Amino acid sequence: MSPSEKKNVVIIGGSCVAISSMTTAKSILPSTHRLIVIEKHSHFHYMFAFPRACVISGWENELFVPYSKAFDSPEKGQVIQALATNITKTHVELDRDVEGFGTSVEYEYLIYATGARHPEPGNLNDYDTKTGAIERLKETQEKIKKATKVLLIGAGAVGLELAVEIREHFPEKEVTLIHSRDQYMPSYKLGMHSKSDAILKSFGVRQIMSDRAIIPEGGFVDDFKMIKVQTKNGKEIECDLQIQCTGMTPQSDLLAKLSPSSINPANKLVMTKPTLQIVDDQFPNIFTAGDVADLPDIKTGGAAWGEADLCMRNICKMISKPGTQEKDLNKHKPMAPQIMLYYGLAKGVCQLKIFILFVTSWDFLLKKFYTYNVHATRAWGWLGTSLSKETADL
Ligand SMILES: Cc1cc2nc3c(=O)[nH]c(=O)nc-3n(C[C@H](O)[C@H](O)[C@H](O)COP(=O)(O)OP(=O)(O)OC[C@H]3O[C@@H](n4cnc5c(N)ncnc54)[C@H](O)[C@@H]3O)c2cc1C
Repeated sequence: MSPSEKKNVVIIGGSCVAISSMTTAKSILPSTHRLIVIEKHSHFHYMFAFPRACVISGWENELFVPYSKAFDSPEKGQVIQALATNITKTHVELDRDVEGFGTSVEYEYLIYATGARHPEPGNLNDYDTKTGAIERLKETQEKIKKATKVLLIGAGAVGLELAVEIREHFPEKEVTLIHSRDQYMPSYKLGMHSKSDAILKSFGVRQIMSDRAIIPEGGFVDDFKMIKVQTKNGKEIECDLQIQCTGMTPQSDLLAKLSPSSINPANKLVMTKPTLQIVDDQFPNIFTAGDVADLPDIKTGGAAWGEADLCMRNICKMISKPGTQEKDLNKHKPMAPQIMLYYGLAKGVCQLKIFILFVTSWDFLLKKFYTYNVHATRAWGWLGTSLSKETADL
């Protein structure tokens, strides 16, 4: 069967959900179908290492992984670089003409995996080429180098990691981290908070808890002028660089046009059935997973990975046995909250589930996991190209 005769399982978004789906599809997708991933970036963005890459230079190219070898052959699948602009009942429309497809891709099954936007530099959503994204990281490095007093607004994983990276490499710079809650990583065990707090203290990060920085209308201006940022509780923070590490916005607009009833108006996430089909009964062939999905899992790459695996297994069941009912599909079970935070080159904190126990651990147990590129090398393996001096700029 030639590639064009095959039916398509289409994924919009080429990040964690897509990579997990590709992995599962390799062993179970029936040969009547192929996987088509539509992604606007030319390369997979390995965001896990962005906090470090905002500070240390010379390895940025390792964080943008080519899709060119993601599939063994076009019969199995293809990653298309394009922006999906509209979804109809049968097709995904594209912003450009793509060889072999034209300006739309027909789908029999669809996984909606457009994720979420985070403020830069935690996420480089708008940088579609590898060179553009690397340039943007280098600009951030230059800003941090130039500043003397840095204010980080928001102490989720990105704010916490970035604070330590800056202090580890530029101990002469003052770093203030402001957090709206009274606990770091409140979805995890208290140990994640207390161990993180101790590490921040050891690196001399100034911490402000239970308070919010007042952000001027139009945002901060990067002119390196020393200003005093006011907080809701009346504090003043002197700084010449401000970096926002707060909030994520789900990218659900595209699906909202086709199926408005699937979008949770309170948070803009896509509501799903336990099978990870969208809640709209008109579209039993549309699934969702990852950061855009309204699920109780904490939004991590690991959770996205597991959810995507379930979507693909259910799709393969429906393909193999036409007429499969919802009740016969696999159901999503909320995932155990697990995470690993990298605090500079030699420290870290993680929460792991070992059997039924949740353990938080740090340095001595995590040492073997520390790599300068935060394990970006594995992402090259996921996408079929091994990372080396020769391939790093591909
Ligand atoms: C700085 C940072 C560090 C992190 N570190 C960790 C970590 O250490 N461990 C961990 O488990 N998790 C981590 N996370 C969380 C993790 O990255 C996310 O949970 C995960 O990436 C979600 O995957 P996803 O596939 O749902 O969506 P995303 O990764 O958000 O990707 C969505 C993709 O869809 C594409 N897209 C969107 N709209 C369109 C469209 N219309 N057409 C074409 N393409 C489109 C985007 O370009 C993007 O590539 C981190 C997140 C950030 C921001």
